[in-house]
Amino acid sequence: MQIKPIIDVHSHLGQFTHAPMSADGARLAALNEEAGIAHGVTFSIEACYGALDLGNAYTLAEVAKQPSLSAMVVVHPRHLASSARWVAEAKSNPDIVGIKLHPALGQWDVLSVASFRLMDEVIAPSGLPVLSHTGNDSQFVTIDRYLRLAERYPTVRFIAAHLGVGITGYSDASIDAWRERPLPNVWFDMGTLRAFHTGAVEAVVAAVGSDRVCFGTDAPLYPPAPFVRLLETLKLPDEVKRAIASENVLNVIPQLRQRLSP
Ligand SMILES: [Zn+2]
Repeated sequence: MQIKPIIDVHSHLGQFTHAPMSADGARLAALNEEAGIAHGVTFSIEACYGALDLGNAYTLAEVAKQPSLSAMVVVHPRHLASSARWVAEAKSNPDIVGIKLHPALGQWDVLSVASFRLMDEVIAPSGLPVLSHTGNDSQFVTIDRYLRLAERYPTVRFIAAHLGVGITGYSDASIDAWRERPLPNVWFDMGTLRAFHTGAVEAVVAAVGSDRVCFGTDAPLYPPAPFVRLLETLKLPDEVKRAIASENVLNVIPQLRQRLSP
């Protein structure tokens, strides 16, 4: 079955470790179109490492040229002033729909004093949703630590990337962490190779609820088209696939509704 519309909540602009895994706005928009993805939320790969000013500026300039893309600005607790400036941009730039955290590449701990200061002074007052890398192999932002951060900030909407587990380590880590802390302000994205383990997405949906998993690809690190085919063939009812494709992310980021082409 074909599911439409599909919104990708997790993609990157900029230069990664290989040219084919890198993209400007035109290339990412073309990959999305080829895959049948109506709209993509994207963020700077360079800014994830700490180059906030260069990476966020490039991403916003590229997104401005592509109506099928929206942006999240990347912030970092040890670039507090720069983070505050980029988040403030959202007031005048409707292309900015959220905030991206990468504690693994940025080397900072989500449960540190610096992280709480960033949350208190910049992120929580903005009202913007947050998407963070999460993973078993990322000591600063394993899913249990991320849920503890989300519990501390109940007014902020959080997306846990990569099904909360990533490629390596224990497959049920997010299912177990959710059992301890089932939070009304947390969603997951499925942008990880782990999603291609048979039954992996279905298991997370069964544990956290069909209203809590959002479509994501991590494009262009991976080609997005196989994720669309995966979604179409998941062993889930069609209404759940539609929820994953776009309905759930529209609850996290309502302003994307206007950006879907009719
Ligand atoms: Zn990513």
